[in-house]
Amino acid sequence: MEIVFVASEMAPFAKTGGLADVIGSLPRELVKRGHRVSVFLPKYKNITRKGFPLKQAVKAIEIPVGFETEAGSVWTCPFNGVTVYFVDRADYFDRDELYGTPAGDYPDNDRRFTFFQRLVLEALKRLNLKPDVIHCHDWQTGLIPAYLKTLYRSDSFFKKTKTIFTVHNLSYQGNFPPDSMSLTGLSFDEFRYERLEFYGKVSFIKGGLIYSDLVTTVSERYAKEIQTQEMGCGLEGTLATRKDDLFGVVNGIHSEDWDPARDAEVPVHFNSRDLVGKKACKKALQQENRISQESDRPLFAFIGRLIPQKGIDLVIQVVEDMVAQNWQLVLLGTGLEEYHKALRIFGKRHPKHIGLNITFDLKMAKHIYAGADMLLMPSHFEPCGLGQMIALRYGTVPVVRATGGLYDTIQEFNPKSGKGNGFRFSGYSAKELFETMNQAVDVFRDARLWAKLMRNGMACDCSWRHSAKRYEAWYERTERKPLNV
Ligand code: ADP
Repeated sequence: MEIVFVASEMAPFAKTGGLADVIGSLPRELVKRGHRVSVFLPKYKNITRKGFPLKQAVKAIEIPVGFETEAGSVWTCPFNGVTVYFVDRADYFDRDELYGTPAGDYPDNDRRFTFFQRLVLEALKRLNLKPDVIHCHDWQTGLIPAYLKTLYRSDSFFKKTKTIFTVHNLSYQGNFPPDSMSLTGLSFDEFRYERLEFYGKVSFIKGGLIYSDLVTTVSERYAKEIQTQEMGCGLEGTLATRKDDLFGVVNGIHSEDWDPARDAEVPVHFNSRDLVGKKACKKALQQENRISQESDRPLFAFIGRLIPQKGIDLVIQVVEDMVAQNWQLVLLGTGLEEYHKALRIFGKRHPKHIGLNITFDLKMAKHIYAGADMLLMPSHFEPCGLGQMIALRYGTVPVVRATGGLYDTIQEFNPKSGKGNGFRFSGYSAKELFETMNQAVDVFRDARLWAKLMRNGMACDCSWRHSAKRYEAWYERTERKPLNV
């Protein structure tokens, strides 16, 4: 099949979170399975800076944005069998960040991503790339299914093209003032609650949820959760209209990108048969973070965006208790300034116990996955979560709140039966988190049992093998559907 991915992030070109890992790995797996796969991304500043060998693919394309016509071009670069295309327009994408600065989102995100999406459709025509499927991801690409069902409905170029929309996080919706409708070029008839309107705004994510032929999300549990009022982010009513076309499948990780036996960033390699190197990695991590270097101290880690979703407030609430127990914490992340401030206070107060890295650092992330004993993911909600799967690969035991993909991928370890790959709790409270950390430390104190638990995790198949097959089946079986609202 000819499969086209459209997304706003892809590792190693541009990454702020898990979406980038997915787009950097699923297309490769589909290529392995015999498909032709291309990915369209914006050409952000850092892509040019990193020096990828880009070639121009389309010189100039003019497209309407609002009442004006704007021009952009397309660049390309191969990546492990996948053809990656980059939509270029300097005033939209040649910026330091992808979506905004710490002060807030870029105020013209509606314009930037409208331009991106329309240009992708026109570029496909110029490149004579006729997709069987366009697979869109998150709000930044939600208008593409809407365009194909409206402005491009009778365009013979797309006559066999189906659209699939994957929700990576329902809480990011791309909601903009009604004026944005005129930027999109879509008829105002689409601005009603059955279509793009959402509490008086234009919702780009609704484009994906309503107009695509199939809607998927990144774990089975999250697919159920988002249909409830509690976790539907106001879109549960919209999702109810698509309940027969809504499925969940857990993300995978690329086994070669995350491999403690071969990873260039891992100080001493190890594998499930020989775990000696893991000890050396822990020591190196303690050294790098200037915390005391003792192998028998439980070392917990936290890697992630410092936002309420990730449960960082629970971690902050248990820090003093952790230190009182002589446990250590290495944290890597950036996000809200209030969390940075709180964490810096603890970091200063307990320099031997807490290693703080308030930054985005892919190398440090690998050092942590390799060197920590346990990874904390006490998320308030978690569509899939990749951290816990990466941790499993590196023999780092996940301690998670059982929600979304964390619920689907982590099974409670039972010391008696020796089954399970981590520890989980259900209530969103610091008390439950700390109790669960204590259970984990009890097992940690028994070296033989702990090694068993680490090996259970390392034996889990977190690759794309199963999930890529599910996507392939959806690409084949999904039918082009008329709009039913
Ligand atoms: P989300 O997409 O919500 O941020 P995921 O768990 O799906 O969460 O994916 C997060 C990805 O980003 C993982 O690969 C994780 O290792 C990485 N990551 C998160 N924060 C940082 C950071 N500060 N530095 C390096 N990598 C990070």
